[in-house]
Amino acid sequence: MSDAGVVHLVGAGPGDPGLLTARALELIASADVILYDRLIPVTALDGARPGAELVYVGKEGRGPQMPQEQIDRLLVEHGRAGRRVVRLKGGDPFVFGRGGEEALVLREAGIPFEVVPGVTSGVAAPAYAGIPVTQRDRASAVALITGHEDPDKPESAIDWPALAAFPGTLVFYMGVKQLPRIAEQLIAGGRAADEPAAVVERGTLPGQRTVVATLATLAERAAAADVRPPSITVVGAVAALREEGLRWFEQRPLYGKAVAVTRAREQASGLAVRLRDLGAEVVETPVIRVVPLDPPAPDVSGYDLVCLTSPNGVRLLFERLADAGLDARALHGARVAAIGPATARALRAHGVLADVLPDRAVAESLVEALGDAPVKRALVARARVARDVLPDALRERGAEVDVLELYETLAEPLAEEQLAAVRAADYVTFTSASTVTNLLGALGDDASAALDGARLASIGPITSDALRANGLEPALEADPHDVDGLLAALVADAALAS
Ligand code: SAH
Repeated sequence: MSDAGVVHLVGAGPGDPGLLTARALELIASADVILYDRLIPVTALDGARPGAELVYVGKEGRGPQMPQEQIDRLLVEHGRAGRRVVRLKGGDPFVFGRGGEEALVLREAGIPFEVVPGVTSGVAAPAYAGIPVTQRDRASAVALITGHEDPDKPESAIDWPALAAFPGTLVFYMGVKQLPRIAEQLIAGGRAADEPAAVVERGTLPGQRTVVATLATLAERAAAADVRPPSITVVGAVAALREEGLRWFEQRPLYGKAVAVTRAREQASGLAVRLRDLGAEVVETPVIRVVPLDPPAPDVSGYDLVCLTSPNGVRLLFERLADAGLDARALHGARVAAIGPATARALRAHGVLADVLPDRAVAESLVEALGDAPVKRALVARARVARDVLPDALRERGAEVDVLELYETLAEPLAEEQLAAVRAADYVTFTSASTVTNLLGALGDDASAALDGARLASIGPITSDALRANGLEPALEADPHDVDGLLAALVADAALAS
């Protein structure tokens, strides 16, 4: 049976894009139509097909909403038309998400459906706040509770005395406005006024905030802290665990820092993952794009030195060799030089251990690292526009040098909201001179003013020079001049600032 015409009820998790499931991402990437709610991760739709129809139906939380009947109608219409439909909801579709109702409508219409559970905010927001919803000795049961999701249901739908008597953790999916009423009713029902309680605002998102208090004081404390929706309230002994050592999310070295990554998308993900590991909010704003050139397959047999100056160069050199039916053994007669550790790693992935690897990842150091060994014929495989330090220095030493241009970096236009995100970032990272020139080009006339509030992080001296040539001073420069060095410099700088 083909998948066409199936409606997928998909949970998008509580907000952190990392908490989207593998199945959710796969379905988003293949959907014809995506009907999505407000509380989904900002990047959730990035992977949708270019031709996919994206429909905002604005359910959950505040703001304009499409009536449920109209959402149901759309689901049925698109399903009948044989489209692959994704109904994307915050958290889990079957936890206060009306997923069950939509599934019943589809069943009635004879349209097949699939349910993709998501990470629910009532478990995830406390977890990111350092509050496990169960804990041996403290809570062996959890109740998930919502207040007024269904306007047709009277408020008394909640049996407060029964909830007060519930032997375990209470998790409320309700706005902060209801906090006084929640506390009042629970205490009236016999729950201890000094029981630990917490409210988690924007759980799993960069601006997550948590207020811990007691049942009696939580409403007041949350109001004083101006806690806003979306928020989750936890009542129970487990709420104290955050202050007993389980707090972790806000402890990470780059927590609360928005860091813009300007390098090409192809290379950005490694840096982005590691920045997220350190707690940063990553703003992906690739200002360059790596476009492979199509040089004829190189005859690498006649060289006694082959120099690689970037991981991209390595990848594309091996692609060219493969096109010619060759592999790493084609390089057997040459010494192989890598400009830095990332390039050496890329070589190793192709089974080649670099013979030459300078301490500092710049062309000058590579020339030095070659030592006195004579070089007759050298191949420099690299980008089209690059500094000529390396070929010039090799020629000076009497070598015959060929430059193999494997790719060029082109400017990648940025959308208005991406430019706005760069302007608002705490750090802007530059990993090559071309990221400097292209970001400044994208920002236009007011580039320096736009970067005023951000600390500029440079990967090394050449990149720093490019910044200075444009009247900008890097706040930090990586040493060593690679991703590890850049991350270490960011962590050190953030520690100083706080
Ligand atoms: N299906 C969703 C819940 C939808 S009801 C799920 O499984 O998570 C909407 C309520 O969820 C909000 O009013 C709020 O109480 C809660 N919520 C959703 N995302 C949240 C987040 N990131 N942090 C805190 N609460 C959140």
